[in-house]
Amino acid sequence: MPIQPLIDAATAETNLAEVKRPFTPQEATTEADRCLFCYDAPCIKACPTGIDIPTFIRRIATGNLVGAARTILEANVLGASCARVCPTQMLCEGACVLVDLEHQPIRIGRLQRHATDHVAALGIDVLPAPGEPNGRRVAVIGAGPAGLGCAAELARLGYAVTVYDKKPVGGGLNTYGIALYKMRPEVSLDEVQAIARLGVAFRFGVDVGVGDEAAQLLRDHDAVFLGIGLGGANRLDIPGEDLPEVVDALDFIEGLRARPLDEVPVGRRVAVIGCGNTAIDAVTQAKRLGAEEATIIYRRGEQEMSAYPFEYELAKADGATFLFNTVPIEVISNDGHVVALTLATTDVRDGRVRVVPGSEWTQPCDLVLKAVGQEKQIGLVERLFPGLAIDAKGRVAHDPVSMQTNLPKVFVGGDAASGGREVVNAVAEGKKAARGIHASLTGEQVRGPVQPSRLGMPDGATGSGFDHPIRVHELEAALKQG
Ligand code: SF4
Repeated sequence: MPIQPLIDAATAETNLAEVKRPFTPQEATTEADRCLFCYDAPCIKACPTGIDIPTFIRRIATGNLVGAARTILEANVLGASCARVCPTQMLCEGACVLVDLEHQPIRIGRLQRHATDHVAALGIDVLPAPGEPNGRRVAVIGAGPAGLGCAAELARLGYAVTVYDKKPVGGGLNTYGIALYKMRPEVSLDEVQAIARLGVAFRFGVDVGVGDEAAQLLRDHDAVFLGIGLGGANRLDIPGEDLPEVVDALDFIEGLRARPLDEVPVGRRVAVIGCGNTAIDAVTQAKRLGAEEATIIYRRGEQEMSAYPFEYELAKADGATFLFNTVPIEVISNDGHVVALTLATTDVRDGRVRVVPGSEWTQPCDLVLKAVGQEKQIGLVERLFPGLAIDAKGRVAHDPVSMQTNLPKVFVGGDAASGGREVVNAVAEGKKAARGIHASLTGEQVRGPVQPSRLGMPDGATGSGFDHPIRVHELEAALKQG
């Protein structure tokens, strides 16, 4: 039997509502007052984009939320998204000195959200103004976090920037690939609009991998930034993998944005292969959409999973189960549809995973979600820019300071360069590449804030305030209708 939607729209909306409640004004002030406003603060060093955290927290403490948001967004143009999706416990909050004093760290992520939500709700634009046009043009390939970070920084430096993306709307992973209970896509779409107001042009629905489009971009621009991210899920390479109910976990997550939630087909027994943060996003959303059983299957032990501990705890609290030291051997079907998985126990010795002979068993399931890492887009990179150097791990080789590749006009950032890190790392690398491009073209090094900030909304611009729920499929439909 093909899988079907399992719950009604109202229940799905409730189950997939954001799990982290925003601070009330009183809570935000109380939390900000706990900050020690450290000199040479370790929380700043732990933030890949170098947000001046004590300054923005002090501004919240004194009631200056607009100033706080300005401090955040000057350093990280995707500060509203990062406030929701950053693993803050591993970054700024993990570095907070209060941890050493055996106190709870300052909840920096929630304070950051408090400030950025405030300006979004009031429609106040606090991004630094675009620089005086310098007559140079840069093409950015990919409207994900790296491309957006690069485009915003280039606009501040006076470049004419055009961002190309084959999707109908921008934001990349933030719009399409984050669990709905962590962040609604309208937050990401708002950030794209704010960058467009800096004068950045967006061309959506354009696949620069077709024909000689990329070569033309190189000829027509002073530099090109490559921010294409990663490709689809790695293959399991087991029999039955091509059955219709064996799906890339990221496609499943994206599918929640592609149609109304009560039309998303979900298995009653869902198996998720892998144990990273995408696997957790998939398993928890499957459970919240009505799956009776949702099981993570991971070939190594609990200590070796790449999912963060707080994500793991959330999935367990949602009723997901975990099978460690277990590997899928075959997907079993009946009438062309998935009915079970053959699983086996593994033994990990000296870092190597071996299947224990004779340990196989059958586990009923009707949907298999693959979350075993994403492929590097080596074929696409070679098609775009023949001769671009790729390292032994399949990443685009680059200078770590300028992000310049072996092709002098091509710069790279985000997952295509790193192989897969956090959203905030991608934003930081995009920004770094923009400064690398500027140094390469002008010989000038850029440090610190680039331009004085502006306040107030430009003509005709409106902030969504994140409080008007938009589904990506609704926005895409509206765009199609013009
Ligand atoms: Fe405040 Fe903690 Fe950063 Fe110190 S380390 S400035 S206490 S958030």
